[in-house]
Amino acid sequence: MTAVVSRIRDRLAPAPEDVGPATRRAREAQPAWAARPVRQRAAIALRFHDLLLENEDEILDLLQWEVGKARIHALQEVAAVAGVARHYGRRAAHYLRDRRRRGAVPLLTHVTEVRHPKGVVGIVGPWNYPLFLSIGDALPALLAGNAVVIKADEKTPLSVLWAAELLARAGLPPGLLHVVTGDGPVVGAALIDQVDYVCFTGSTRTGRVVGKQAAGRLIGCSLELGGKNPMIVRADADLDRAVEGAVQACFSNGGQLCLSVERIYVHERIAEEFTRRFADRAARMRLGAHYDYTDDMGPLVSQRHLRTVEEHVEDARRKGATVRAGGRARPDISPLCYEPTVLTGVTAEMTVHAEETFGPVVSVYPVSSDEQAVALANSGSYGLSASVWTKDTERGRALARRIIAGAVNVNDGFGAAIGSVDALMGGMRESGVGRRHGAEGMLKYTEAQTIAVQRLVPMPPQPGVGLARNATLINASLAMMRRLRLR
Ligand code: NAD
Repeated sequence: MTAVVSRIRDRLAPAPEDVGPATRRAREAQPAWAARPVRQRAAIALRFHDLLLENEDEILDLLQWEVGKARIHALQEVAAVAGVARHYGRRAAHYLRDRRRRGAVPLLTHVTEVRHPKGVVGIVGPWNYPLFLSIGDALPALLAGNAVVIKADEKTPLSVLWAAELLARAGLPPGLLHVVTGDGPVVGAALIDQVDYVCFTGSTRTGRVVGKQAAGRLIGCSLELGGKNPMIVRADADLDRAVEGAVQACFSNGGQLCLSVERIYVHERIAEEFTRRFADRAARMRLGAHYDYTDDMGPLVSQRHLRTVEEHVEDARRKGATVRAGGRARPDISPLCYEPTVLTGVTAEMTVHAEETFGPVVSVYPVSSDEQAVALANSGSYGLSASVWTKDTERGRALARRIIAGAVNVNDGFGAAIGSVDALMGGMRESGVGRRHGAEGMLKYTEAQTIAVQRLVPMPPQPGVGLARNATLINASLAMMRRLRLR
């Protein structure tokens, strides 16, 4: 581990003055990269995929060391990045190809929509999934022909550097990918000032600042922000699966996951049984900080974050909530361990009611109907992810459509949607702007250009014909196109 850390630490650019040289070098390297055929660029992503799996143990150690996550959660992160590399490696040429569009005058106007890379893309990422939320977003940007500068979170730059090195080994030419780190408001802001597009993932509060800065420069941005994600358990749900699903949805990565469930609305007929079984299962989870697969959940990322989690639970307890499982730090296991915590009796005055804890803390509420469950799920200001549990999947689909969230999983906590890289992921309301994954996850890093070739007859007004006669011709052709159902 020490050897890996010292090898890659040397490559770190930890100050705002590093941003200038990084973006300059990126700008120099980008045109030659963009001139390469897409398939050549895509092949590098597929080689990266294979190298990632071949060197998995090293990055698993590093992710655990930097974030504190259990090994199984580190593996899920690596698998997610591999999924992105494979998807865009295979689909980039399809997403980026020129597209024929309908012309203004049928047969005579020949229109093609072309995609150009933005140039230099800035990626500002958080600490909780440092690999997935940096390299996972960089891959489609690179394959679209851009250069990328990543501003890694100051707590977790080494995993990102490790992956940058691996991309170089996979064949990415020098100068195209840079990693800088340091204080967000200083280094992050310096980066946004110099790039052509910014992909930001982090808190809603910082997202507003980043969005304003991007707007000031008239550059595009995508903002992947916070959530307070609801889970609905209908009376007809398979209880075994729902309990296990809740454990994964609430406590994966110690709840430090934007898609984590922090509110569960259970039908009153099964609420007590569900809560008893869920709390019992949470209490039996194995906590620890081992570099192997013995732990169900690892420590939190920092002392500061541990304090926030403690404060949320203490506030709820003081105001009358019942702690059904967990509710305390476990320094006896590891300095930053906090127990998976299940609360009931949570009310609107408590911080955990609507504010994102971003830790292993969930509140369970009984509801009397689907209507009430959907109304409560839609309360608050976020709209990132949601989960519905029912044996009636048609009903589950119908409820999903009524929930205000960028992704809704039926009979799964969050993995089904985020693992489906062909489909878009992102937030509604204060959970974000824009999407990752799918076509949009790559095309957002491009500028669309329309090339229209006019053949044989010029667009009106026709030369040599009086304006009044031209007006008659225009009106006649409009009426004809409507009659012939031409669009
Ligand atoms: P954060 O907003 O504090 O920091 C995120 C990144 O932004 C860090 O690299 C930070 O250094 C940088 N930064 C801070 N201020 C900046 C500024 N003024 N200009 C530019 N960059 C700046 O978020 P965090 O606490 O690290 O991450 C947790 C939050 O991220 C949670 O709210 C979580 O829900 C959210 N998140 C969202 C997603 C998603 O996909 N929607 C994924 C993961 C995390």
